[in-house]
Amino acid sequence: MPRRRPRALRAEQPVSRVWGPTPPFRIHGLSTRASLAVHRVEYLSGSFSIHPGATDCALRRYREFLHPPGRRPLYPQESSCSCTWCSFDDVRHARDVLEEVLERLPEPARAELGRLVKPLDVVFSRRTLPDPFAHRRQWRTQFWWYRRLAERSEWG
Ligand SMILES: [Zn+2]
Repeated sequence: MPRRRPRALRAEQPVSRVWGPTPPFRIHGLSTRASLAVHRVEYLSGSFSIHPGATDCALRRYREFLHPPGRRPLYPQESSCSCTWCSFDDVRHARDVLEEVLERLPEPARAELGRLVKPLDVVFSRRTLPDPFAHRRQWRTQFWWYRRLAERSEWG
């Protein structure tokens, strides 16, 4: 029978009342400490869109949207279903999630996540076009990523 190392086993399976039984995973590009802070925000937020894993999902979706090479403009597209997962089809929802998490994160985790989001924002604003009629719409136009031309401009 192999020798058991209880301390090592415990270290591999952290159980926390705050984070729940699932060991929090490290978000690509974030320190372990910041990943834990994000995980904590996701568990405690009580927000409809901020579920565990939402931040990682949002970052992946944001990068994926900006991925096509070239200078061709990109158009965000409304998601056909408003459930927690399909909402991410609309890249602007992914950006909403990141904004909400950023607002809730304590420093320095906020700054760390901000450093991942900012260069994506730069590409997003470069690859999308301004919506000249954004001021006529009511919905969420306080966020600059909703003031860009979308595939369905009547939306909102
Ligand atoms: Zn759905």
